[in-house]
Order: sequence, then C-alpha cells, then structure tokens
Amino acid sequence: MKVLLVEDDRALSERLERVLTEAGFTVHAVTDGKEALYVGENFPLDAVVLDLGLPELDGLSVLEQWRRGGHKVPVLVLTARARWSDKLSAFNAGADDYVTKPFEMDEVVVRLRALIRRSTGHVHPELECGPLRLDTHDQRLTVNGETVLLTSHEFRLLSYLMHHRDRVVSRTDIFEHVYDADADRDSNVIDVLMARIRRKLGVPLIHTVRGAGYRLSWEP
Ligand code: CA
Repeated sequence: MKVLLVEDDRALSERLERVLTEAGFTVHAVTDGKEALYVGENFPLDAVVLDLGLPELDGLSVLEQWRRGGHKVPVLVLTARARWSDKLSAFNAGADDYVTKPFEMDEVVVRLRALIRRSTGHVHPELECGPLRLDTHDQRLTVNGETVLLTSHEFRLLSYLMHHRDRVVSRTDIFEHVYDADADRDSNVIDVLMARIRRKLGVPLIHTVRGAGYRLSWEP
C-alpha cells in the first residue's frame, strides 16, 4: 500500500518513514505543500499522512485542493494544534482522521491501516480469500491455518491483491503500490515476485489475466 508522507520536520519524517516501511507500507516522503499537491494529483496513492504546518503551501490548502478536484484518497492529518476549532477545520477540509502531536508511532500505523481498510470496503483487520488469512496488524499470513513467512515486498504485494480481491489489477498498479518511486521499472521484478508468492501459497489463487494483469480470487 502506497502512502504519501508530508512532513517538514526532517527528524519526525525519517522516524515515520522507518516505522511505516517496517509496517509494510511503501512510503513516498515529501517536505512541502506544493510538492505534496503535485504528488497527490499525479501518482496513485492508498493513503496520505499530512502535516498541517508546511512550507510553500499549508496542509489544509493542499487537502482542500485535492478534495475540490474530486480526489478521494484517505487522509490522516498530523496536527500540533490541540484546539478543537483546528481539528474541525481539518475535517471540514476533507480529512478522514487526525492525530495530535506528540503521538505514538504505533497510533499512526493503526489509524492508517483502519483508513485504508475502510476505503477499500473492508471492516476487519484480517483479510481472507479461500484458505488464506492475512492479518494486516502483525503482517502474518496463514494458508489452511499454517503460517507462511513473507518478505516485506511479498507482504506488500499480497496485501495489495487481497485489498483488491476478485478485481483485476494491472502490472502498473502493482508496481506503483508495491515499489518505491525510484525502483527499476524495466526489470521483470513483478514476474519474479509473483512466482515466489505463488510457490509459497501453494494454492492457485493468483490468476493471470492475459493482457490485463492479475486477479486474486478463490473462484477460478
Ligand atoms: Ca510542520
């Protein structure tokens, strides 16, 4: 799941990026409002973590412009302001949730996962498909009750497919949601990763849809 992290405090941004990456997200970090606006409008994202006090363009204006443009990405606002009126303006601008600084890193992770789950129509942290159970909290996969260990890229890919169960996802979608922006697009990394996951699952749940991409489904 690709997350845009907008935070101008470098130290905080680095800590958040590390924690989010460890939690299985693909992170695109930017430090000012103008760049955030550009990335949000030009790259596919699953969620945004948005600081409000930013150079160039403040967080509320960024959010308002996205929403005016019909951009529905779930947004978690980071706010140093404890005043209710500030939280209210964040919600009025289109925020889905907020955390007040200083916050526990884990709280950001938990709230972000909940936002992404809800935005893709899932209400429970455990995603399932036939014999697969993927617990998005502790990144644990079981197949027929047996634990299967995944690398971080394997987890990201499977999590993306399971959030979009029964739908065809293109190779471009997969690439953009699973890999960092600077990854090498010309290589056959997706094929290699897909082959590895299929072997690990041991059950034919990932179907190749010729010319279109892949579909994770219990139905053949
Ligand atoms: Ca700030």
